[in-house]
Amino acid sequence: MSRIIVAGSINMDLVNHVKEFPKPGETIHGRGVDYLPGGKGANQAVAASLAGGDVTMIGAVGEDSFAEPLLSSLSERGVATGSVVRKPGTSGLAFITVSDAGENQIILSEGSNGKLRPEDVPAKQLADADVIVLQNEIPWETNLHVMQASRSERAKVVYNPAPVRQIPADAYPLIDLLVVNETEAAGLSGIEVASQQDAARAGRELLSRGARSVLVTLGAKGSLYLEGDGQPIFTPSFRVRAVDTTAAGDTFIGAFVAAGAQGLDTPAALRFATAASAIAVTREGAQASIPTRREIESFLA
Ligand code: ADP
Repeated sequence: MSRIIVAGSINMDLVNHVKEFPKPGETIHGRGVDYLPGGKGANQAVAASLAGGDVTMIGAVGEDSFAEPLLSSLSERGVATGSVVRKPGTSGLAFITVSDAGENQIILSEGSNGKLRPEDVPAKQLADADVIVLQNEIPWETNLHVMQASRSERAKVVYNPAPVRQIPADAYPLIDLLVVNETEAAGLSGIEVASQQDAARAGRELLSRGARSVLVTLGAKGSLYLEGDGQPIFTPSFRVRAVDTTAAGDTFIGAFVAAGAQGLDTPAALRFATAASAIAVTREGAQASIPTRREIESFLA
């Protein structure tokens, strides 16, 4: 089986529930805090591992009380954490407040994720990898280093530029698969994406910049995969009762990569990933909502 590396963020989400958000200067009581391991990198690593992939995480935690639970959340789900480094200061934290109206306010503190340097990425891990998965919650120079090293090691680069920021023109050709949601597709291509047709136009624009393939996820509508001059592949989503779409995209990416690593062809891997994310949106939470391979297979059976 192919080896998957995920280099990216590891966060603890501190989630508090309130009736209404406090006004400036006001102090209010919350209903109690949940500690939920998250971060796009860690979520994608967990999704790939639970979907049956052989996954190693590269990232950084702090020297604080969150480091251990963050690492065990990964290792309990089968992700190898031996290459995760420790940095002075806090781990990545997301302070999330959810109001009874269902709105949320989030303050992200990148902590150790912002300190992950190119030299923290073990050359041996990159040399042994078949697929490398990246997002935008660690410094760009570290992402670029991993992309360039992967090119020389012939590992495939999967890049999910979230939160969105522009990609330098000379980096597009380093990307084997660019995975974007509607907002990210629009932010990068300059083309508003609301439909399958828009996704095809935006996807072609991103292919023309040098990415080898592009996958645009379209929320409850499904996804569109484009590669070279081939016919785009549209995969409709499954109709489910969505209760929490947190980590839908992360689950999709992890499951898609794991399916490919286990030898499924692209249409089958897309269906597998679509099922995985459909299950995830029927459950609360980020990592807690991510299904196992067995659950995905029985959903599809
Ligand atoms: P992100 O979480 O990155 O914004 P999307 O919202 O595009 O990503 O969702 C990723 C994938 O998750 C979609 O392509 C779809 O397959 C699945 N998905 C998302 N929302 C739903 C939903 N309400 N019902 C079923 N599947 C969904």
